[in-house]
Amino acid sequence: MGNDIRKECLFCRIADGEIPSTIVWEDEDLVAFKDINPVAPTHILIIPRKHLAGLNDMTEEDIPVIGKISYVASLLAKQLGIADDGWRLVSNCGKNSGQEVPHLHYHLIGGKFLGPFSDR
Ligand code: 5GP
Ligand code: ZN
Repeated sequence: MGNDIRKECLFCRIADGEIPSTIVWEDEDLVAFKDINPVAPTHILIIPRKHLAGLNDMTEEDIPVIGKISYVASLLAKQLGIADDGWRLVSNCGKNSGQEVPHLHYHLIGGKFLGPFSDR
């Protein structure tokens, strides 16, 4: 991925350590950090280091890293003490979802009753 995108993308810059965040997981594929404006007592963003704007840009080569995000979410849920009571993992993609940051991310949310997934 071109360096231009990495310099302009907020979450690339967080992954590269250029913008501070509270990191709770880091490995060669993924970074997980606290959401700056949490909607629940636990609100973590899990991102691939590789820049993808969202799930619309995923290709077959990304299957392992996207799978790993679910696994790391389950580990973090246990580590952060929300596994037993339940939690939600969600990725917004595009305009109708309200996606604000165009670098693929999953919200790991928990620590309170989350209510219905969406308005009907
Ligand atoms: P989206 O609406 O794109 O699915 O979610 C973007 C999320 O990124 C929001 O929950 C927002 O609070 C979070 N966010 C935006 N800017 C920053 C930032 O600079 N640092 C952190 N840690 N989170 C951010
Ligand atoms: Zn990016």
